[in-house]
Amino acid sequence: MAKELYNLGEMPPLGVIPPKMHAWLIRPERFGKPMEAFQKEVVNTPPIADDEVLVYVMAAGVNYNNVWAGLGIPVNVIGARNKAGEPEEFHIGGSDASGIVYKVGKDVTNVKVGDEVVMHCGQYSRNCAWVKSGGDPMYSPTFRIWGYETNWGSFAQFTKVQGQQCMPKPKHMNWEEAAAYVLVGATAWRMLHGWGANAIKKGDVALIWGGAGGLGSMAIQIAKAAGATSVAMVSGEDKFDYCMKLGAKGCINRNEFDHWGMLPHWKDNVGYAKWLKGVRSFGAKIWEVLGEKRAPNIVFEHPGETTIPTSIFVCETGGLVVVCAGTTGYNATVDLRYLWMRQKRLQGSHFANTEQANQMNELALRGLLDPCMSRAFTYDEIPVAHQLMHDNKHPHGNMSVLIGATEFGQGASGKPPVAIAHPTLPKGDVHTTPAPYPMSTPLPGIAEGEALTITDDGTKVRDLMHRGIISCTPDDTVGTVAKIMVNKEIHAVVVMDEQGKAVGVVSQTDMVLARQGRTPDQARSMRAKAVMTPGCATCDADMLLSDAVSLMTGRRMHRLIVTEKDQPIGVISMTDVVRKIIGE
Ligand code: NAP
Repeated sequence: MAKELYNLGEMPPLGVIPPKMHAWLIRPERFGKPMEAFQKEVVNTPPIADDEVLVYVMAAGVNYNNVWAGLGIPVNVIGARNKAGEPEEFHIGGSDASGIVYKVGKDVTNVKVGDEVVMHCGQYSRNCAWVKSGGDPMYSPTFRIWGYETNWGSFAQFTKVQGQQCMPKPKHMNWEEAAAYVLVGATAWRMLHGWGANAIKKGDVALIWGGAGGLGSMAIQIAKAAGATSVAMVSGEDKFDYCMKLGAKGCINRNEFDHWGMLPHWKDNVGYAKWLKGVRSFGAKIWEVLGEKRAPNIVFEHPGETTIPTSIFVCETGGLVVVCAGTTGYNATVDLRYLWMRQKRLQGSHFANTEQANQMNELALRGLLDPCMSRAFTYDEIPVAHQLMHDNKHPHGNMSVLIGATEFGQGASGKPPVAIAHPTLPKGDVHTTPAPYPMSTPLPGIAEGEALTITDDGTKVRDLMHRGIISCTPDDTVGTVAKIMVNKEIHAVVVMDEQGKAVGVVSQTDMVLARQGRTPDQARSMRAKAVMTPGCATCDADMLLSDAVSLMTGRRMHRLIVTEKDQPIGVISMTDVVRKIIGE
């Protein structure tokens, strides 16, 4: 007979599931910094479905996603799940773990009670039509990151996972080491091995950004195992030794260069020439490190905005720049001439599928992948570990926490098949990386603007619209359009073609954008057709104002052309709606 609840570290007999368990919970009413957001509670142990497994957690990995879950931004993960029909008003985080299988659903065939496992964080519905037809689960609309987008993560005595998430634990690793590497390892594996003809192979050169970081340290080792040569990027020479011990041929200190950031406009001759000088000397540094004039076949990207222009420039003709994050920003600027003329590929990549996670784990089982665990914490320190991350004071490498394991260093039951030396990070090494944005924010699709509604009080568009259309021709200059805007005190000018058809709108924002990277004279002489936002949404003058607002917000537009008997007669804008709201 199972006890109601076992103390932490008091392991229940194998296969015995107590009805209650200890866990660290995040609740919406205490969203905030990790030290407040995470609190210890006792909850019901979750039941499992036929394809699921209940694992007694020995140690859990710490990732940035649960800093975001605790803050409740940009997504309230609890609210999102409640909206989708899940009843629990809390979140148990944790997207990496090592542990022991305690219960399996009747359809699970890859593990049995008593198996020591590590878990990858990719969940998806086995009933998804795409998955059933053999499609990559990473493209399934049902794909979720366990312990962030799903509940019942690893910061609890028991975690609920799908059978396919379980993989054998490397015997030579202790519990906390085994909990540290899977999320970053599998992500790096898909990035390097997942892209067909561009997959890394023997003899390739790989440029690895953030070589001493979580992903980069995995990438160096995966590249080495494939027989490729890697050059590691770091922010200081104190990390060279670490990256070389992991297998990099050489390292580059990114602080020796200053051409980082978004590309200057290609028409900005002075700025572009300066950038080119910087990026060329960086390319020459790669040659120096390699000892031969070769360009990287694969560039392993995640800093994003500040480095993508360089990554694309230095990548070999026909090579791959593969990116899984935009830690420094999301506007990756590309000089398309290099992309198309030299037929390079810029490829997005996100986590990994079951097969790829297992291929990565195979390396770990064979002793060829060091987990690069930098620091382990006790169960009580879960909020502390996340707070350090939140404050950017955590060490490089991967962190984990003990859950069921009572002391550090437990759980290793064998020697690695290959003797490996644990590289150690320089003392006092802490992050200077900007806090990354959560990796699974729902991104809006083309048609997904959420239409807002206002109460229908019978007001029609014709009651508020501005009669008459202030227009310009497609060939009018930006200077002319600016004068119209200023003289008429309006925010946008409709562009009409020769047949009197509205073909676009030049808004104030379009005008400001026209100035970017250009002198005032260059901007003024541009044509309206070059700067306008093409296409015009129309509405009938008799449309209800509430419907017009839904149309504008749903299509993310600020104004509609108003028609009567299909002829344009005026404009209604969001400003008109605001005026009505404040009763002007
Ligand atoms: P990490 O351990 O913090 O490492 C990031 C590395 O980036 C640091 O070691 C830092 O090294 C380097 N870096 C910082 N600022 C830089 C800059 N301005 N230019 C170039 N390099 C810079 O993080 P991680 O675990 O490797 O993760 C990296 C990113 O990938 C994060 O945004 C994370 O959220 C994301 N991620 C995505 C997935 C996915 O599935 N899509 C999975 C895991 C992680 P130096 O200062 O030494 O250069």
